[in-house]
Amino acid sequence: MKALIDMSDCGARMIEIDGIKSERRRHYFFLNPYEDAAFTKCPKCENNTKIRKFPLVIHIDPQQLLLLNKKCRYCVKCDLIITKKSELESLMAASFEQSKPEIIGNNYLVMGVAERRDWLDGKKGKMLQGETMERLLVFKDVLNFELIPAGWYHEGENEGSRRHQKL
Ligand SMILES: [Zn+2]
Repeated sequence: MKALIDMSDCGARMIEIDGIKSERRRHYFFLNPYEDAAFTKCPKCENNTKIRKFPLVIHIDPQQLLLLNKKCRYCVKCDLIITKKSELESLMAASFEQSKPEIIGNNYLVMGVAERRDWLDGKKGKMLQGETMERLLVFKDVLNFELIPAGWYHEGENEGSRRHQKL
């Protein structure tokens, strides 16, 4: 299995892994960098988002996988998971405070989610790292939304959010 991961910047990136079948691609993901934006409304469709827990699979440089069952905002219609960057990072730091404090602050990548069944196995200590990778549900796409302050956008850019090009 080959993973092409762009680690040049902290955060989430679209990844290409050879041999991942389309049925193992689930959900869209947005890592929310805005401290004061909760995204109670979906940035794509404006519907209210729900709070739902997802077992996020995070790769941390150089070689660490973390399963983090985290409350996220979720738009059912767009299948979009939104999670706050600052919350994610403090949970990650807490996870490694005792066991591996040296990796705190390293580059990381939110790759996808584990299946619920796998999350339960993982909690019982049954899942090895290699198996996590093989049973990972990779995000279909990682989206980026920019907040545009009301009243300052040009005509024709009145959507409130813009989809950025896939990296
Ligand atoms: Zn939506």
